[in-house]
Amino acid sequence: MSDILTELYDKDGNLLGALLTAEAWASVRDQVMAALGVSQAPEIEEKPEPLSDWELLTQYWDFPYPVDMDVACENCGNQTANWSEDDPRRFRLTSANLAGLVAFQCANCRAKVVKKHFKDKISTECTPYREEKITTKEGRY
Ligand SMILES: [Zn+2]
Repeated sequence: MSDILTELYDKDGNLLGALLTAEAWASVRDQVMAALGVSQAPEIEEKPEPLSDWELLTQYWDFPYPVDMDVACENCGNQTANWSEDDPRRFRLTSANLAGLVAFQCANCRAKVVKKHFKDKISTECTPYREEKITTKEGRY
């Protein structure tokens, strides 16, 4: 049997169900939910935070300033001095790479906050979350 899928049987050999690895489940979850007609709350996007990517970045940190842990959301004012110590998270890590690009999702308003690390500075971009269904609530400035 494959490593990613384990079929579960009772003692009489009747199939009870199947168990997927977390990674496999994350990649097929949407299709399975759609195929089975299971509705899912759109807020629940429980992808695990890619903490190993983050750790790799901090391990190979070659910027001339210390690792920065603060995150702020321009959209709703949410902020933290150290995102990794918040429980529950005020910002969820969504991606991190060795080039110094670190992305978060604001737990408050779901805006995407991207921190780009450059040699001489850190630039932060905040993109408000857009619910595709809502077209009448366009923000105007
Ligand atoms: Zn926010």
